[in-house]
Amino acid sequence: MQQVTVIGAGTMGNGIAHVFAQTGFMVNLVDTQPEALSRAINTIGKNLDRMIVKGSLTEEQKQTTLARLTTFTELDKACSGSFLVVEAASENFNIKEKIFKQLDAICDKTTILASNTSSISITKIGACTQRPNQVIGMHFMNPVPVMKLVEVIRGYATSDEVTKTIMEMSQQLGKVPVEVNDYPGFVANRILMPMINEAIYTLYEGVAGVYEIDTVMKLGMAHPMGPLQLADFIGLDVCLAILNVLHQGFGNPKYAPCPLLVNMVTAGYLGVKTGEGFYTYTAGSKDLVVSSRF
Ligand code: NAD
Repeated sequence: MQQVTVIGAGTMGNGIAHVFAQTGFMVNLVDTQPEALSRAINTIGKNLDRMIVKGSLTEEQKQTTLARLTTFTELDKACSGSFLVVEAASENFNIKEKIFKQLDAICDKTTILASNTSSISITKIGACTQRPNQVIGMHFMNPVPVMKLVEVIRGYATSDEVTKTIMEMSQQLGKVPVEVNDYPGFVANRILMPMINEAIYTLYEGVAGVYEIDTVMKLGMAHPMGPLQLADFIGLDVCLAILNVLHQGFGNPKYAPCPLLVNMVTAGYLGVKTGEGFYTYTAGSKDLVVSSRF
């Protein structure tokens, strides 16, 4: 059975590990924080239970999927024998640079190194390695087990062969891959983040409240979720990091993050993951919006 390694067991890492394991891959999930690993296995179990309730999975399939997952805190042990590594660690270039340099040193020469980055240049990540032709963006959407899209990002040096393998692999996972080129924010976040930032500016300038802004976009534009709730769901720290990449990458003031977003991240109001962002959430639940502090 083919083995993959997923680096980072946070919001995205647990979903990516879930999908690979459910498809039949052996998955080595690695994180520097042991509690992130236990939280991830717990989340995967709960998400599989939800599928059982919906009738799309059996208890036996759940147990088989969980049995394909192994957790690690050491990168070298987690990568041994994997033909593909998908990095989903925090959205910070310095962290990713360190990881990809290490991966290049420890992984087999043929191993493909993919990043789930939302916005950091794949070309820049590839340049940290001696194998930039084998470095590619594999940008899953949140929540990974539910969302169909994988944005496949070709770095400047990514080979045709590696791109083809990752496009096919994404299909094998039941996803719809879309190939895009490597420019700041790629396609998804180049379009989504300016909209979220504008929603935050609309709140900051007192044009309307959280409920009103999200309701306009839900009922008026047929968005399944308002932009402020979506920002909470993505993580306000992740939104800020992506806006900074767009702002620096294009040098255009239209991408400057709203000061309210900067303040909220600095104060630790990161959305669902900390229980408070534009809305307040009951502990450990992303479904229950208790109230809005605005
Ligand atoms: P997160 O903060 O929920 O999780 C990141 C995890 O990485 C943490 O558990 C942390 O302990 C771990 N980590 C940090 N440094 C590490 C290292 N050196 N080795 C191993 N693990 C390490 O973040 P997230 O929201 O899951 O985002 C992960 C990546 O996915 C980012 O690049 C982000 O831009 C991207 N992404 C996020 C979303 C989203 O909606 N949150 C969507 C698409 C892509």
